[in-house]
Amino acid sequence: MNTKVTVRRCGEYNPIKVYDLISEIYTACEGPDVSGKKVLVKPNILIDSNPAKCISTHPVVVEAMVRLLQSKGATVLVGDSPAMHLPGFKCEKSGIYDVCRRTGAEWVDFLKNPAEAVLKNGKIRIASVTREVDLIISLPKFKNHELVYFTGAIKNSLGLVPGFSKAMQHALHNDRDRFSVFLVDLNEAVTPHFFIMDGIMGMEGHGPGQGTPFATEVLIGSSNPLAMDIIASTIAGYDPMDIPTNAIALSRRQWLTDRSDIVYDGPELETLIRKDFKRIPISVNENIVARFIKHRLHFIKRFEKRPVFKHINCTGCQECIKICPVNAITMHPEKKKWVVLTDNKCIRCFCCAEVCQYSAVEVRRKVFGD
Ligand code: SF4
Ligand code: SF4
Repeated sequence: MNTKVTVRRCGEYNPIKVYDLISEIYTACEGPDVSGKKVLVKPNILIDSNPAKCISTHPVVVEAMVRLLQSKGATVLVGDSPAMHLPGFKCEKSGIYDVCRRTGAEWVDFLKNPAEAVLKNGKIRIASVTREVDLIISLPKFKNHELVYFTGAIKNSLGLVPGFSKAMQHALHNDRDRFSVFLVDLNEAVTPHFFIMDGIMGMEGHGPGQGTPFATEVLIGSSNPLAMDIIASTIAGYDPMDIPTNAIALSRRQWLTDRSDIVYDGPELETLIRKDFKRIPISVNENIVARFIKHRLHFIKRFEKRPVFKHINCTGCQECIKICPVNAITMHPEKKKWVVLTDNKCIRCFCCAEVCQYSAVEVRRKVFGD
């Protein structure tokens, strides 16, 4: 497998500059021949939101990728399944639906007639378009992630799973390691053929939905999801083997047999590492004994990071209630804009923090109180 990762510095969403750099990266990484082929471009659209929030892949990056593929003779489709996926979703606030209108690329609704993918352990619903296209090009966003620490190429494939099936995976794989194994399994079943990561503006802090924009100033390309994630998480200042999806994928030796297999093409990597990027602290209490105790003594669970609801910011929109895969959140019986967490049901998947658009869900330690 191609193990090359190409990185180019890019500090602004200038359409011409971004197009030229993506074109250069595509050539340098020997991106697939798309002439006469049907290609799905899959950005990261966690929530349909203003691009300035850096929650989703920037529309300038999406447009550059679409136009490059069209210039090479491809028929391009664009789509993703956000965290809260309702029928008719069109991704208008993020500017990506406009990209489709401008370029003539077809916007695809992943909820229509989903297909099935066979994983190592069972089956999963998957967008049927993944079966209809010749190639998938994934455009992850450079972001932190409360659960798996860093969200990159491997995590971006979760959006190929339509609707609530995504949140259900948290209930089925209810801790960091199990969920990471599932993500790697999913990527082995449906592997996109090329990746461009939008790291021009990344997200530090409480990603993937409530962090802070951070000028990481890179575009990263690869045909290899693991090689890309190892380089990207290194730039974010993580030890890449602390990212569970990286460690699990590397142990399987499908995409890389060793980190030294990566063929790196770009500026001196050390000069790109963002030491001031606010990372998610790596949990140190995840050994087998700690897990055993945690699953049996509810009080110990209170010492973990958990969702803490800031009632003053809550609008009562109930998106967190709809996404919670284990029904751990309810509305207060008397107060209108006040949600209540049933802590012993909560599996710490942080989907509620991902979907809350009003900064009303913090992920932090809070031993006492609701
Ligand atoms: S916490 Fe956020 S998502 Fe939940 S009801 Fe309040 S505003 Fe909506
Ligand atoms: S309350 Fe939030 S963190 Fe807990 S299980 Fe529900 S969605 Fe996940």
